[in-house]
Amino acid sequence: VLKIEGLVKSYDTRKVLDGVDLEVRQGQVVALLGPSGSGKSTLLRCINRLEGWDSGTIKVLGRHIGVDGNGFALSPREIADARAEVGIGMVFQNFNLFGHLSARENIAGPLRWVQGMSAAEADRRAMELLERVGLTHRADALPRHLSGGQQQRVAIARALAPNPKMLLLDEPTSALDPELVAGVLQVIRRLAEEDGLTMLISTHQIGFARDVADRAIFLDQGSIIEDGRADRMLTHPENPRTARFLQILS
Ligand code: ATP
Ligand code: MG
Repeated sequence: VLKIEGLVKSYDTRKVLDGVDLEVRQGQVVALLGPSGSGKSTLLRCINRLEGWDSGTIKVLGRHIGVDGNGFALSPREIADARAEVGIGMVFQNFNLFGHLSARENIAGPLRWVQGMSAAEADRRAMELLERVGLTHRADALPRHLSGGQQQRVAIARALAPNPKMLLLDEPTSALDPELVAGVLQVIRRLAEEDGLTMLISTHQIGFARDVADRAIFLDQGSIIEDGRADRMLTHPENPRTARFLQILS
């Protein structure tokens, strides 16, 4: 579903992504690991077109994201269309919920505004998704009245609302208190196991990565330096830099 070739991205003169090649198959769950500043968030943001890049191509479901078939940059409108058409959802470290809207409105609102769904249908879908993340009893609460873990589960439900083909999660549990992490990880694990959703997850949670991911990728200074089966890489890394990083985390 995802094919990235030769992706290069710089801020000013510094290369943050330095020739990333990555292919992800339907249903694969990929953990994106690497030290702070290695480019994990930038990579996810490029895939979701929150950032532009210097060179290289990103294709989702065979469709170019960012340039048309002739290599010309797409307009913001075309990007929005392409993103909706191929279906990419994104979950952020800090939830990014609308603070003045209830949990159900956070999900139903975008379905009405962006997808043009009727109010009744959008609300029905919102409640169905809240049930999937175990939050029907908090449907009318504002984000600030929810725990961090509950807020993140609302954010996941919102990202799932338009039925994306692929979900990008950028450190979905790193802003949470330790006791709230498990509930969020459980929701993500269920999406992988029951729904077979394709996911690309940046995380520092090695145990979780080993548990839920089929595949792990280690990014260092904007390049993929190791790529393989998650269980193998996380227990027997081949690259010394991966090994050192895993040692620091454990
Ligand atoms: P972390 O684990 O801390 O989240 P990361 O792997 O997600 O790190 P990125 O956020 O992708 O790393 O950042 C990669 C590099 O790009 C960093 O050196 C960062 O300082 C730089 N960077 C990120 N965003 C910008 C920006 N908007 N302008 C300039 N530099 C940026
Ligand atoms: Mg990051």
